[in-house]
Amino acid sequence: MASPINSVPMLDLKRQFNSIGAEINAALQNVNESGQFILGPEVKKLEENIAAYSHSKHAVGCASGSDALLLALMAIRAGKGDEIVTPSFTFFATGSCVPRVGADLVFADVDPVTFCLDPKSVESKLTEKTKAIIVVHLFGQAADMSAFQRIARDYEAKYGRKLYVIEDSAQAIGAEYEGVQVGNWGDASCLSFYPTKNLGGAGDGGMIVSNDDEIAERVKLLRGHGMSPRYYHKEIGVNSRLDSYQAAVLNVKLSRLDTWTAMRGANAERYEKLFAAAGLEGAVITPQKVGNRRHVWNQYTIRVTGGKRDALRAYLQEKKIGCDIYYPLGLHQQECFAYLGYAPEDLPETLRAAGEVLALPIFPELLPEEQEYVVNSISSFLG
Ligand SMILES: *Cc1c(COP(=O)(O)O)cnc(C)c1O
Repeated sequence: MASPINSVPMLDLKRQFNSIGAEINAALQNVNESGQFILGPEVKKLEENIAAYSHSKHAVGCASGSDALLLALMAIRAGKGDEIVTPSFTFFATGSCVPRVGADLVFADVDPVTFCLDPKSVESKLTEKTKAIIVVHLFGQAADMSAFQRIARDYEAKYGRKLYVIEDSAQAIGAEYEGVQVGNWGDASCLSFYPTKNLGGAGDGGMIVSNDDEIAERVKLLRGHGMSPRYYHKEIGVNSRLDSYQAAVLNVKLSRLDTWTAMRGANAERYEKLFAAAGLEGAVITPQKVGNRRHVWNQYTIRVTGGKRDALRAYLQEKKIGCDIYYPLGLHQQECFAYLGYAPEDLPETLRAAGEVLALPIFPELLPEEQEYVVNSISSFLG
């Protein structure tokens, strides 16, 4: 008889390693024997594999998803005097890359159903200085990309200059909008291989995916100190190279990604059924897949209404059930962005989401019994 469930981890990467450990170890052994630890053949192979997987022309590795965002802005020459619109309800790196290049950060609000950037809110923030918008495919679901493409076209018609669309796909590798993968809707798309992402390395890593030859070329130059040829620097870049260890691990894992994504999707469906059976309508709002999109479920984020989110979280923690709040504050509420002068209620949907969201375990190897335990525990607290 299986032992009864009395705890559920938020994420258990050991279960994943148990299924592919031998292959990972062999791949790392190869890197050790090759003596090539920075970029090199494993990184080149990963860049080719990710470009093929994404159906994109180029993929350029770098040190993290945060650096991918920074490099994308450097590649489009964003800087002083430019405004860049990002959501406030996102991970910090989506916003912090903007002041890092000297540009002005402008926050827009999110759609309450998808938690992704709201096109109407973005439109209200555009000025003649807007250089780019960074669209985040939050929690694994694509944002409304046809709306953002239309916004970019209208902007160009009105102001006679290009509005760049950068996709932050850190949580959404493999997600699709109307049958086309994320990464192919904007001018450049940023991936993260942080271990908790759907395709996670054994450390930090990131990549820029693009169909634009010039952007890809510039990212390659800028990730290596703007150096070409060796020791000749055309402009000031950064040191942001992907290491061969990460690429070797990721090359092994990429072959499993679609299987793992399907397992995440099955877990999301099971939660949906369990929550429906628990009769928590109104108290818990489950995440919805919207329209013609492929959701890759990096997070399963419920809303807990009635001001009970924090108490529920404390209860689940006491029961040793992993859960987390992504994100407890909008970026516009962060101390380091106080200088921008936003009041919390300036972005009402961001403020409401930050007070209601709770992410539950959704990793591929999560067991049905564990999901039952999670939902039963939520039900006994709220019911
Ligand atoms: C993880 C993440 C990043 C940053 O990626 P790192 O690899 O951790 O630097 C950027 N944006 C979003 C939305 C993320 O989830």
